[in-house]
Amino acid sequence: MSANLYDLLASRFPDDRSKPCFLLNDGSAISYGALEAGAAHVAGRLRAEGVQIGDRVALQAEKSAEVIMIYLGVLKAGAVFVPLNSAYTPAEVDYFLGDAEPKVFVTDPPAWVAEARRHPAIADTTPRDAGDLASLIYTSGTTGRSKGAMLSHGNLADNALALHAAWGFTSEDVLLHALPIFHVHGLFVALHCALLSGAPMVWLPKFSDAEVLAGLKRSTVMMGVPTFYTRLLSNPAFTREASAGVRLFISGSAPLLPSTFEEFEARTGQRILERYGMSEAVIITTNPLHGERIAGSVGFPLPGVDLRIGGGEETGIIQIRGPSVFSGYWRMPEKTAEEFTSDGYFITGDVGRRDPDGRVWISGRAKDLIISGGYNVYPKEVELVLDELPGVTESAVIGVSHPDFGEGVVAVVMGQGDEATLIAEARRQLAAYKAPKRVVFVDELPRNAMGKVQKNLLRDRFADLFK
Ligand code: ATP
Ligand code: MG
Repeated sequence: MSANLYDLLASRFPDDRSKPCFLLNDGSAISYGALEAGAAHVAGRLRAEGVQIGDRVALQAEKSAEVIMIYLGVLKAGAVFVPLNSAYTPAEVDYFLGDAEPKVFVTDPPAWVAEARRHPAIADTTPRDAGDLASLIYTSGTTGRSKGAMLSHGNLADNALALHAAWGFTSEDVLLHALPIFHVHGLFVALHCALLSGAPMVWLPKFSDAEVLAGLKRSTVMMGVPTFYTRLLSNPAFTREASAGVRLFISGSAPLLPSTFEEFEARTGQRILERYGMSEAVIITTNPLHGERIAGSVGFPLPGVDLRIGGGEETGIIQIRGPSVFSGYWRMPEKTAEEFTSDGYFITGDVGRRDPDGRVWISGRAKDLIISGGYNVYPKEVELVLDELPGVTESAVIGVSHPDFGEGVVAVVMGQGDEATLIAEARRQLAAYKAPKRVVFVDELPRNAMGKVQKNLLRDRFADLFK
């Protein structure tokens, strides 16, 4: 067996290949055998189309089981999988295709796989070394233009095995999969845990209350972004009973509000397990499966991950080194060089600290730090105060250009209330320079596909607030 990730995954498929891998909405299922055969035909078609080792195969499409056949077939053929966000506009897609220069671009996976079945199935997997590129995955673009993170077979295999162990996956599990599959969360974190267990997935095209509630009845693990959990909680049909068969709820991709964690526990008796990751390193830290899961902390580094806080202060930018850390950004050698320290740590751009137990707490992104009147304001600290106030569902605190202070602290609040009251209450609990100078109320905070609040959009929208 070479270090090709495909071989590792396939070695864990159930002996009985008729066992389901994808449980679909219409009541039908796609077996592990069908997944394996699909991948072998995909590899056959890629070979016929002249795709060589290291060539990129890009895909932009709605979620389907065929996307996973293509992903695995690409690995099997020794090529590089490049999934693109299904929401990208044609102009955005042009940019990514120009950047990745794929040999093949798939837009209709079911039709593409149907055609691939006319090509011979390839049984052998192309040998790859651990350091060879497996996937080019574009970051979410929360802080600027998306960058292509280069992840190797070894990066993905190592992280998949670590998560499979950390979260106690077995062949008895059934994973509820409602995540998009163009980011690491849905494509690697969730999928690999299921495949390494030979377990089925309740395969939902996207999050919908009714389908998730129905799916939970036959699932043992759910992975989601925080908005999945807030949406479930706002549905009265989501009860302790509705979640009774689920042993583990996992959250990541964006911060889980402590209020969500607490409300979830009160409703279901279960404590959501929060973990922290990114395109550049897949999963970095996780709360424990056995042991205490603490609201607001992302837990401990995975085995093999070195995590330190840069800058010499208690709170600073998180730096990491370890087997799942990517080799660099695609065709951006300078950017890559800037984001690694001279001793080989990746500078994540997330600000955090470690407590005496070794738990990691994230206080936001370095790029979101506000400097007001020369003082540093960490938005998270202000948000935590505001989120507890009456009428506030969730807040996003940003810095907006201010004639006297450089930046003025502004709170964008999802909810309803009175600006002066919120400012007064924030001033009671926080140093004056941290309290918002303005509060604006909105019905919804802008979020991307992973439920991340897009603070750059808020900064643009309120850029003139103090002018
Ligand atoms: P870009 O790098 O293009 O600006 P992005 O950082 O949002 O976008 P991703 O790689 O998809 O792109 O997301 C990783 C980021 O998500 C992390 O750096 C971190 O800021 C955030 N994140 C992930 N999990 C958590 C978590 N549990 N708590 C807080 N933040 C999290
Ligand atoms: Mg990032």
